[in-house]
Amino acid sequence: MITQSLISEIVSKQRQFFYTGATRDVSFRVEQLRNLKQGIMQYEHEITQALKADLNKPEFEVYGAEFSLIFTEIADAIKHLKNWVKPQRKGLELSFLPGSAYLYPEPLGVGLIIGPWNYPFQLSLLPLVGAIASGNCAIVKPSEIASHTSHVINDVISKVFPREYIAVVEGGVETTQELLQEKFDHIFFTGGTAVGKIIMKEAAKHLTPVTLELGGKSPCIVDTDINLEVSARRIAWGKFLNAGQTCIAPDYLLVNKSIKQDLLKAIADSIKEFYGDNPIDSPDYCRIISEKHYTRLINYIEGDIYFGGEYNSDKLFIAPTVINNVSWQDSIMEEEIFGPILPVIEYEDINEVIAAINSRPKPLALYLFTNNKDLQGRILRETSSGGVCINDTIKHCGVASLPFGGVGDSGIGKYHGKASFDVFSHYKSVLKRGFGFDMKVLYPPYEGKLALL
Ligand code: NAD
Repeated sequence: MITQSLISEIVSKQRQFFYTGATRDVSFRVEQLRNLKQGIMQYEHEITQALKADLNKPEFEVYGAEFSLIFTEIADAIKHLKNWVKPQRKGLELSFLPGSAYLYPEPLGVGLIIGPWNYPFQLSLLPLVGAIASGNCAIVKPSEIASHTSHVINDVISKVFPREYIAVVEGGVETTQELLQEKFDHIFFTGGTAVGKIIMKEAAKHLTPVTLELGGKSPCIVDTDINLEVSARRIAWGKFLNAGQTCIAPDYLLVNKSIKQDLLKAIADSIKEFYGDNPIDSPDYCRIISEKHYTRLINYIEGDIYFGGEYNSDKLFIAPTVINNVSWQDSIMEEEIFGPILPVIEYEDINEVIAAINSRPKPLALYLFTNNKDLQGRILRETSSGGVCINDTIKHCGVASLPFGGVGDSGIGKYHGKASFDVFSHYKSVLKRGFGFDMKVLYPPYEGKLALL
């Protein structure tokens, strides 16, 4: 295990490297982003194998939900970096003339990125793209739970970058605690809400700003005015992708009573279409990450099981499962499920749905299926969530122009695209003045001048 003194040495060397000014050069940053992409491509096979070993992640999903997001983010940063780094000219009141006002983006220094296990590659390296683009040094601490991916991230990063610029520190809770003893200029954490609070408390000791990308129970509301087949397919896809271990997976379904039976049948049909009659044999269906999470999840499989319900401990397999007739009081409605179990609550009155959502912690995502524009407007106005996707699931997080993040219990701060650059930047306010006109009235003695203001 890495020692505290080695961690201190890495941080201190990174700080020294940062102060050489090398990372401030835009062409240096672009070159490093290109190197990162090339390194990932060189290790494509090893990364794919690691994700298969950790989560049985299908190659298609490795490309679609891990590589492609990183490559899009790199391409976006390279394309726009010259503009992003430019000082932004701001307006100025007459009393400050002659002069000009600017916002100068500057890198923060040394960042710490702590990743989760569910999309373990992408969620550790996507924030790194922002750190590099904005001219920082960084330490990445991947999740120890996805151990194969953690090792391969270490291999890629140590091959591509010198440690005094970008380093990986592998390890579990103890290692993270040791990292948190150091002073960083920004901490970017992706994980659960409970751990997020620990990170923020530790960061406060050094007055280090944090971005917390957390989770929560993301509701999926289904009204009657929908295309049933398309809605069912999109809900089933978003819920059972990565075996439900997606921070923005629809956690539970709130469905209009009059359409419920038809929708559930269509969701069941979609599941069969995706994973066949025996999803345990499907090459396209992921496994639960660990025994601990498997045990936690199978406790939820009770009540009116509409579909699925099978599990196998040797293979850490839990079938795509739909539980009907769930009530707000059931234990499955307490915590984020983070697994392939979809509880279904029916409603007759949308006012009750809105009130119930608003009485709970603000979710990371909210899904609404309806063509009804009035209802769309009402849900957007009357509920709060990190993001919203109407008539689809998950896909809003892939839009580079839409910052991604939570609100309230689901997180602090946003990233993706320009927002990732902003996370690791300080916008320095600068006023430039000339020596021309000097308003002497401002200077003491003040006697008789108050009336002039
Ligand atoms: P986690 O909070 O258990 O772990 C995340 C990281 O924190 C890991 O690197 C881990 O080593 C470290 N950690 C764990 N306990 C710690 C402690 N006591 N002190 C210091 N560090 C500690 O989260 P997870 O289980 O890896 O991921 C699941 C959670 O993450 C879910 O809640 C999910 O919704 C959320 N998530 C959010 C996003 C997002 O983008 N908002 C993305 C993926 C996952």
